[in-house]
Amino acid sequence: MQLAQKYKKPCLFHSEVITDTNGNIVRNGVSDPDLIYETARKFPQIPVILGHMGLGGKEANEVAINTLISSIENGDARLYADLAWVDFDNPLKPTIVEIIKRLLNTSQGDKTERLLFGTDAPLGIFGERALKQKNAYENNLRDIKQAIEENFKEEANKLTNRIFYRNSKKLFLSGIDTTI
Ligand SMILES: [Zn+2]
Repeated sequence: MQLAQKYKKPCLFHSEVITDTNGNIVRNGVSDPDLIYETARKFPQIPVILGHMGLGGKEANEVAINTLISSIENGDARLYADLAWVDFDNPLKPTIVEIIKRLLNTSQGDKTERLLFGTDAPLGIFGERALKQKNAYENNLRDIKQAIEENFKEEANKLTNRIFYRNSKKLFLSGIDTTI
């Protein structure tokens, strides 16, 4: 984080909410979104990305979504969420739709600038399964774009452009304004 501050760069952390063998959330993992938030609060100008937005399914994603929204409402850290691997097996992309809705309607206004895609790997399927589903990546992108179109109509182009291109360009290529 100190190096990120020195060189004015964002930091990415793989985020993961741990569940026990019964699928219950236990919240003691080293990649827990709240631990990442705690770190981000110590360097409030440095953008910090929650890779995979909590990982591991709906409940885990929900934890990360709440962390991200809290950070925006509290204004005490610059958290982002990466959507790679989120909703990978669900073509309707309900979690992605939910986080977009919540970010469009924060008390600070539209904060969809905080969503990214593909800054953490894997982007979804990997290993042996990936060899058997060669179009998995294209299909995933197509389904995400389609879910955005169906749920956000006239805002869809703007949102897709932000999530897949503009937000990353701004964050990684335009330099970070450390005065805010
Ligand atoms: Zn990761």
